[in-house]
Amino acid sequence: MTGLYFHIPFCAKKCPYCDFFSVSYHKETVSQYVGAIIRNLSAYAPEEMVDTIYFGGGTPSLLSAAQIGEILNACAKYAHLSDSPEITLEFNPTGERTQYLHDLRTAGINRLSIGTQSFSDAQLSLLGRTHRAADGIRTVMTAKEQGFDNLSCDLMLACPHQSEAVLAETLDILGKLPITHVSAYLLQVEEGTPLSGSSELLSHLPDDDTSVDRYLQTVRTLAEFGFQQYEVSSFAKAGFESRHNTKYWTCEPYLGIGAGAHSCYGGTRFQAKRDIAAFCTAPIQPTELIDPSPCGTEERLMLALRMKRGVPVDALTLQAQKKLPLLEKGGYLRAENGCVSLTPEGFAVSNAVIAALLG
Ligand code: SF4
Repeated sequence: MTGLYFHIPFCAKKCPYCDFFSVSYHKETVSQYVGAIIRNLSAYAPEEMVDTIYFGGGTPSLLSAAQIGEILNACAKYAHLSDSPEITLEFNPTGERTQYLHDLRTAGINRLSIGTQSFSDAQLSLLGRTHRAADGIRTVMTAKEQGFDNLSCDLMLACPHQSEAVLAETLDILGKLPITHVSAYLLQVEEGTPLSGSSELLSHLPDDDTSVDRYLQTVRTLAEFGFQQYEVSSFAKAGFESRHNTKYWTCEPYLGIGAGAHSCYGGTRFQAKRDIAAFCTAPIQPTELIDPSPCGTEERLMLALRMKRGVPVDALTLQAQKKLPLLEKGGYLRAENGCVSLTPEGFAVSNAVIAALLG
């Protein structure tokens, strides 16, 4: 089985904290871009069965439902789709979009990842988001009415001025929405972004201990609402774990199409050039090799430790096994029934714990 990823690098407005590859929306360019996706699919759709399709960005919900439908029709024509593929589209909440959501569902999208980020208008404003809390709620409710039973919301943690009470209010709203999944990310200050140059906002970022507290508050509250953590940043109701994202953590293959899209496919890892004009005009997307032999033992372990199910103890080197008691005593991991997995406290500082264990 393999996954298909389509990168849609267009946004209505650049968010001040974002360093993803995206450019301003331009109708004509987007139309050429969709044509190029279909051309690439016809040239080298995966030969294996495709069981997940993911439209990421950027802002895929800037594409019309007809354009999404054209791409999905091309998938059906050129790839071998499994009986019930998971087909996700990242959706930015905006105003009233009932017809669009209806048309997306009709086109075949069966999962939405909604960029809600927060249900505090003050927080959304600080993050430079153009939508407001009511837009996020309306999007979820309308999507549900239009037949989407698999809905994920994004949540941004460790934001400026995000007190325990502010986060609690957002979590309370989130927990009452008819959603199946939450992706919760700590705000990162990326070099070169407007956020990194705003001393006012930077001075109100929480310190590391407070960030850990917000993360653990999120884990606890989401569990109360029935969302089980299955990965560092991912929480799902039973049976609604993201099948596509799980491929990234279990080293399963996926083919990315679109300027800047990553792939782990055919035994190598590569990235399409971040060049929209080249992507639109070349017969096949120009790519750069990143890793000729990805997913070695160490990388598999690092990725597997991001997941709640963890790794078998005997998959670790003897040197790593010797470090287990100390990390377990610190409350960062559990080693039981022959398996090692990080605790919420360990996930909160997962990079450091994994480095301590495997480094
Ligand atoms: S909408 Fe998403 S991809 Fe676009 S600028 Fe904002 S955070 Fe980045």
